[in-house]
Amino acid sequence: MPAPATSGNPVSATILPQSAAQGAHAARLAGAGALHYTDARGPLLPCKSKGDPMARRKKLYEGKAKILYEGPEPGTLVQYFKDDATAFNAEKRATIEGKGVLNNRLSEFFMTGLANIGVPNHFIKRLNMREQLIRQVEIIPLEVIVRNFAAGSMAKRLGMEEGTPLPRPIVEFSYKDDALGDPLVPEEYVIAFGWATQQDLDDIVALALRVNDFMSGVMFGVGIKLVDFKIEIGRIWDNDYMRLIVADEISPDSCRLWDIETGQKLDKDVFRRDLGSLTDAYTEVARRLGVLPTNVTHAPKPTLIN
Ligand code: 5GP
Repeated sequence: MPAPATSGNPVSATILPQSAAQGAHAARLAGAGALHYTDARGPLLPCKSKGDPMARRKKLYEGKAKILYEGPEPGTLVQYFKDDATAFNAEKRATIEGKGVLNNRLSEFFMTGLANIGVPNHFIKRLNMREQLIRQVEIIPLEVIVRNFAAGSMAKRLGMEEGTPLPRPIVEFSYKDDALGDPLVPEEYVIAFGWATQQDLDDIVALALRVNDFMSGVMFGVGIKLVDFKIEIGRIWDNDYMRLIVADEISPDSCRLWDIETGQKLDKDVFRRDLGSLTDAYTEVARRLGVLPTNVTHAPKPTLIN
């Protein structure tokens, strides 16, 4: 059984809960001051110290595209968006100037919109160009993927032409484990291995479909087709009462976005498949959504409006 990876993080007590009971345990630890934002994707990296402007804060986790720092209040974290882009399980890497700034702003835009229609998520407020304040959660070790059209791994797996409309939105789960390449897992595995209960899964699917409806509508309104996307879900605790909320990020890094008229790709596939400038693609998404002023479409360093 692929047991959830534990981290060797020296600065925080990390816990990957396998059940609600263990989650409650984690919450009690959190109440006692332990930090419990967890992620099965790879080891925690040591903090840089000298000359690193972020070194004044305690780094809890560094992933491929983001860093998590301890937040100013208990139960909060600061999420920093890096310019790093990776694909194919980090076999392909690059630094894309401005990507972190764009994703910070776009994730804020989507999470705020979701909160406005009652979809709970971790976003509290944007702090600056690259950072946002978020709620600390216990990440469920699953990538929750929603697909409206065949693309990517589904198209490959089933021999379907990319862009084929699906009969209905399909929700699938991958187990978050870089070493295993985030394998697709059936619900049976999720429940049997205790990553989530049946009730959790029902709630996660309902959340994912609400995110899909919102995102599809917003993107359609600016001439973009939402082909598929990935979200992550976290648990938060109010005493013994557990709730599931949308966490991590929602950005063109984690969605497939195609221009409705031309089919042009405006997402991370531009990087994965060497289709041009990723910054231009993300800037175009941000411009259409009104997140950027119209005159900075091709600016190498996006100027953000507040
Ligand atoms: P696929 O399974 O076709 O590769 O990906 C489906 C959708 O989930 C795509 O929108 C893709 O960008 C997103 N996705 C899948 N795995 C990851 C991941 O590890 N990181 C991010 N950011 N997005 C992912």
